[in-house]
Amino acid sequence: MKLLILDRDGTLNRSRDDKVASPDEWEPLPGALEAVARLNHGGWRVVLATNQSGIGRGLFDMASLNAIHAKMQRQLAAAGARVEAIFICPHTPEDGCDCRKPAPGLFRQIGARFGFALGEAPAVGNSLRHVQAGAAAGCPPHLLLTGLSAVYAALAPSAIPDLPPGTRVHTDLGAFADWLLAQPAPAPKTNA
Ligand SMILES: [Mg+2]
Ligand SMILES: [Zn+2]
Repeated sequence: MKLLILDRDGTLNRSRDDKVASPDEWEPLPGALEAVARLNHGGWRVVLATNQSGIGRGLFDMASLNAIHAKMQRQLAAAGARVEAIFICPHTPEDGCDCRKPAPGLFRQIGARFGFALGEAPAVGNSLRHVQAGAAAGCPPHLLLTGLSAVYAALAPSAIPDLPPGTRVHTDLGAFADWLLAQPAPAPKTNA
């Protein structure tokens, strides 16, 4: 199985300073949905892991979040793409939960749900918190220079602060898909 764990805001869709609180505010980034379709065609199952503290803060409710995700899924489907599960941390920092990224709880939930060791599941997102959470759960980390991380485009990857060791940096989700799909398939395991 090939599984990858994507961030949402700033990775698939435009991030907003005031949070994406309604379907109208969910706008895909250029090329992002097509990148998911290409990854799917390459055999990658895609799961989202997203902090949505707007729930815990009362900025929007689960019905609104479900409506946002229904729009997202419709647009993904129209692009020939599929996200098969969405894992959400609804908490605020004050809740002290173990699932708000950069804590690795959401990633561990995904590993448990899919019965999958995360060492081969890339963690892909524009936020350091996503990359840090993925790395803490054992995922190979990949940072995208979209959304708030566009400011890092002027820096060498080694100069980006707080990046977990071994993080690969890509311009956007399309560039990540190009890179991943160009990797040689792992040699089949033999029991000889
Ligand atoms: Mg993000
Ligand atoms: Zn949480």
